[in-house]
Amino acid sequence: MIGQIIDGKAVAARLRAEVAGSARELRGRGIAPTLAVVLVGDDPASAVYVRNKTKAAREAEVDVRDHALPASATQAELAALVDALNRDPVVDGILVQLPLPAHLDADAVIRAIDPAKDVDGLHPLNLGLLAQGRPAFAPCTPKGCMRLLGEVGAELAGARAVVIGRSVLVGKPIALLLANANATVTMCHSKTRDLAGEVRRADIVVAAVGRPELVAGDWIREGAIVLDVGINRTAEGKLVGDVEFAAAVQRARAITPVPGGVGPMTIACLLENTIEAARGRRHHALGPPPGGR
Ligand code: NAD
Repeated sequence: MIGQIIDGKAVAARLRAEVAGSARELRGRGIAPTLAVVLVGDDPASAVYVRNKTKAAREAEVDVRDHALPASATQAELAALVDALNRDPVVDGILVQLPLPAHLDADAVIRAIDPAKDVDGLHPLNLGLLAQGRPAFAPCTPKGCMRLLGEVGAELAGARAVVIGRSVLVGKPIALLLANANATVTMCHSKTRDLAGEVRRADIVVAAVGRPELVAGDWIREGAIVLDVGINRTAEGKLVGDVEFAAAVQRARAITPVPGGVGPMTIACLLENTIEAARGRRHHALGPPPGGR
């Protein structure tokens, strides 16, 4: 069996079009959804991410305010900027591009963001709500993974899901979202004793490690659904995921490629969260939508 290759680019493009529709609807009611992006320093990869986010936002009719601070910025300067953005009534969502330069405390910055504007979903309050099963803003890559599972009609209730990786950004929130959707979730990590054995039992595998082809194709159960979050560059300069794709696609029912699978979903979900933030924050100003609910 050759599995379906999940076209994350196409799904993300559809989601961005939905976002653009929502943004137009909000604009028709006098509200311009606005995302503030904070970039500290001159890390080239971060600069590329920020450019891509800005371009996608503009195409989806979401306004972007770029704020660049020099690599020498102090914690107090960054805190003052976040505080100003928290107070700015025009700003719906705040994204602080990570990683920050080493002398800055990223956790403290994230804690300082108004949870109602935390479109990255990384504030402890939003992660706590996710753990309680009533997420406000789910982190963007995990949210994108759930959308892809929906796209392929994955039956989540009762499914055995194995998430490899337990980072706060990706692995843990994916595990929580899957558990909230009634999957039976196993979270694997660097200390897991028998990773192959865990993966072999899984109906759904999510790999979020950052090790090229760590997950061997023959670990994948026939008919499993595989989401490969990992992005790794080989010595030859090729991008590969955490899963041995060529062999895994022979066994999976559906699988995401790298690139073009999970990756494109992150920005689309960030924009979706920004629309939700705009609606949520301005609920009172908005009143019911035209035609009522
Ligand atoms: P991280 O380094 O914070 O976490 C990696 C996790 O993998 C850790 O929990 C660790 O315990 C686990 N791990 C390490 N070695 C392992 C092993 N041998 N077996 C099992 N588990 C092991 O990384 P992250 O931020 O969670 O990102 C993971 C990957 O996802 C990276 O390749 C990153 O580039 C990619 N990523 C992609 C997107 C996207 O597609 N938009 C977004 C975020 C991260």
